[in-house]
Amino acid sequence: TVVTRFAPSPTGFLHIGGARTALFSYLYAKRHGGKFLLRIEDTDRERSTQAAVDAIFEGMAWLGLHADAEPVYQTQRFDRYKAVIAQMLEAGTAYYCYCTKEELEQMRNEQMARKEKPRYDGRWRPEPGKQLPPVPAGVQPVVRFRNPAHGKVVIRDLIKGEIVFDNAELDDLIIARADGTPTYNFCVVVDDMDMGITHVIRGDDHVNNTPRQINIFRALGATPPQYAHVSMILGADGAKLSKRHGALGVMEYRAMGFLPEAMLNYLVRLGWSHGDQELFTRQEMIEKFDLDHVSASPARFDMEKAYWVNHQYLKTAPLHAVVPEFDWHLRRLGLDPAQGPAIEDVIRAQRERCRTLLEMAEKSRFFYAELSGYDEKDAAKHLTAESADLLEALVGILAALPAWTATSLHAAITGFAESRGLGLGKVAQPIRVAVAGMAVSPPIDQTLFLLGRERTLARLAAAVR
Ligand code: GLU
Repeated sequence: TVVTRFAPSPTGFLHIGGARTALFSYLYAKRHGGKFLLRIEDTDRERSTQAAVDAIFEGMAWLGLHADAEPVYQTQRFDRYKAVIAQMLEAGTAYYCYCTKEELEQMRNEQMARKEKPRYDGRWRPEPGKQLPPVPAGVQPVVRFRNPAHGKVVIRDLIKGEIVFDNAELDDLIIARADGTPTYNFCVVVDDMDMGITHVIRGDDHVNNTPRQINIFRALGATPPQYAHVSMILGADGAKLSKRHGALGVMEYRAMGFLPEAMLNYLVRLGWSHGDQELFTRQEMIEKFDLDHVSASPARFDMEKAYWVNHQYLKTAPLHAVVPEFDWHLRRLGLDPAQGPAIEDVIRAQRERCRTLLEMAEKSRFFYAELSGYDEKDAAKHLTAESADLLEALVGILAALPAWTATSLHAAITGFAESRGLGLGKVAQPIRVAVAGMAVSPPIDQTLFLLGRERTLARLAAAVR
């Protein structure tokens, strides 16, 4: 069965690129009825923080990318790494190297002077019949992996196709530092092996690590997983995606008013396609996702498209998916969802006209809080002496309505506009500014219905004064 993993280094928030990698790994596992695991690569203790771990969990949870087991932390696995290193020393697939910093420096300088690529020259590498240097006193050795000296490593990358490395190009990697701590590429292999990972889906910045990792797998007598290296994400201008292209953290997109499902949909299309279909439910993504249709060339981030996708979701997503997010946004604006209409009703009234939940929350503020003033331009245009007269008359008419329903409000307002020989807009716009503080709101009958009789009448009266 398929087992994939997402293996972030907790040095910051969950960014767009990481989220996409996680999504691809998640979908690939689900698509094949397999498992999706999470591993926290926190061995770099200086750069890894608990806050970053939490931020990654938060982002994953918001996107609904749930792992099928408890997360694995590399920092909790040092005993295991030590045991494997001992085993490799024993088997002769790793060896102690007593080179000092100075020696390595000198080696490097000499190679550079000969215009060679700097590499470890293998002076402590045991070979049959080779005499190793005498062990110097007082030097703590590192442990190096005995990389095969000849032959090639062929990666059949599921996205990029065949990638070939010459073993002669790979020098003997340090797998344990002088203080005994294991190094990155080694830990990844032990983890992927122990976690039973069958498919490693990760950013293509790791391509150069892959042949070394494959060699270590083989040295351990294990079968390497299959690899799929995903190309990076570029900004709309073709430059590497960075802060100036917009938000990078997934949770920033939440704050901007994206729905998690829309975010997933947008992310899945960064590099993957299925014909010309743009919108996918989570279930459809799971059914249709495959690595064959992940592009080997970089994807471009397009904010306008992200907004478009979000708007499509806002318009059509089931209410139960929108309600908790909208509630979150209202509270974030300091509003109390209990102090106004049911938020389902507000979503229904607003969803067509808003691209984001933030926009929706801002445009719904007036339902949940008293007005703090009027939009200046809208007020200058619509709250005139002439409209004061209209609003005053309306207060009387609406106050006398026997039932406060959208239908009765509609009839009352259109009837009133006709009686004055005015188009509906001439009446509706001043009402809007009076009750919403601005000249945009859902249809006026719905707006007043949702706002309720008391608030409507009080605000109309206040606008006349
Ligand atoms: N921790 C690595 C990163 O954040 C991922 C390593 C891997 O997926 O093998 O880029």
